[in-house]
Amino acid sequence: MTPQPDPEAGAAVKAADRAHVFHSWSAQELIDPLAVAGAEGSYFWDYDGRRYLDFTSGLVYTNIGYQHPKVVAAIQEQAARMTTFAPAFAVEARSEAARLIAERTPGDLDKIFFTNGGADAVEHALRMARLHTGRPKVLSAYRSYHGGTQQAVNVTGDPRRWASDSATAGVVHFWAPFLYRSRFYAETEEQECARALEHLETTIAFEGPSTIAAIILETIPGTAGVMPPPPGYLAGVRALCDKYGIVLVLDEVMAGFGRTGTWFAADLYDVVPDLMTFAKGVNSGYVPLGGVAISAEIAATFATRAYPGGLTYSGHPLACAAAVATINVMEEEGLVGNAASLGASVVGPGLRELAERHPSVGEVRGTGMFWAVELVRDRETREPLVPYNASGEANAPMAAFAAAAKKAGLWPFVNMNRTHVVPPLNTGEAELKEGLAALDAALSVADEHV
Ligand code: PMP
Repeated sequence: MTPQPDPEAGAAVKAADRAHVFHSWSAQELIDPLAVAGAEGSYFWDYDGRRYLDFTSGLVYTNIGYQHPKVVAAIQEQAARMTTFAPAFAVEARSEAARLIAERTPGDLDKIFFTNGGADAVEHALRMARLHTGRPKVLSAYRSYHGGTQQAVNVTGDPRRWASDSATAGVVHFWAPFLYRSRFYAETEEQECARALEHLETTIAFEGPSTIAAIILETIPGTAGVMPPPPGYLAGVRALCDKYGIVLVLDEVMAGFGRTGTWFAADLYDVVPDLMTFAKGVNSGYVPLGGVAISAEIAATFATRAYPGGLTYSGHPLACAAAVATINVMEEEGLVGNAASLGASVVGPGLRELAERHPSVGEVRGTGMFWAVELVRDRETREPLVPYNASGEANAPMAAFAAAAKKAGLWPFVNMNRTHVVPPLNTGEAELKEGLAALDAALSVADEHV
């Protein structure tokens, strides 16, 4: 329901926020958070009555949009019946959520360990890999994001820490493929793929295969720029993992649950990891939830030996009830198919058409409802519109772009020199076109900096 404008209430919300809320990833005095009065579907409203079309899905998590009535009702019903119950018990909402997730994850990823979100899912996946292999190192890509915690158990004091102390050993970064900004002087996807795999195998050889527990990759790196890997890359990584006894962890926190137009991005590449992390879209973030889907082989490691890890709220019934309802809504409303078809027929072609007209667009890439538009100063040299990690004045062109989008009624996802187009999966064709028109206006502002 559209909230009534109430600027005074908005000012009070804002004042309390500014006085007491410490915000993520921010210089506290340099931010100016918008006070949000309400949200529904793909839209939200501020207290002045301004409406925004949300092309960010929050932080790429409201895959079914805001306030879906069936999911809200399921949360209310679960709250009335059993709001919470400790993780050591079998609880209907939890077992049903695990079953529905396991039925959709690829291959034999049939056991589900529940976490509160994505970062702790990554923590646990890496711990499982280290304990399973008895090896200390993890390889991960430079262009990646896996979460904000820091293997918290290593600072824990009691003996529960002991089994995980191997986790203090190193993380080694490598370059995953990305043709537009190739580190391998590649000119084709085939070259990029082959050279990236060669680079990864060389990294494994120099680090010592017997020291490497896991390779973790986002199936399609999201935060770093929505970079679908070239055909064959993930299959090649899978083969290297098999060759050297390394656990393959695919992080689908952002790419999973329909975002790519398939249930999981791994489905696009026909690759089955040993561990897969998820969060966000699993219940559209209505209640915090994440998890790790575990292969039969890794699950067997902990069949008669305790897994030394856990969380008070693991498989929280409210969050799991929201997951059950979300997955059912996604099936009933065909949202995975919707993401695939509208991504291919409206978003992709719409963004490519904008790229033709706007000199500030360097590249458009993506799939489903998972797209990035890379803004550049110069199409030939591909110099980014703002420098890497720019802030303040240096970031002014992107700030101007974002302001223009908001003025046109669109809330854009902006990260460095890119805007990501990641709307809810049930955003309709007319809404998508409305958003593309707002992007058109905002790109005209970006063009002034070319
Ligand atoms: N992995 C990926 C791929 C992510 O995109 C994110 C969040 N953007 C995380 C992990 C961390 O998830 P959370 O913020 O829920 O801890």
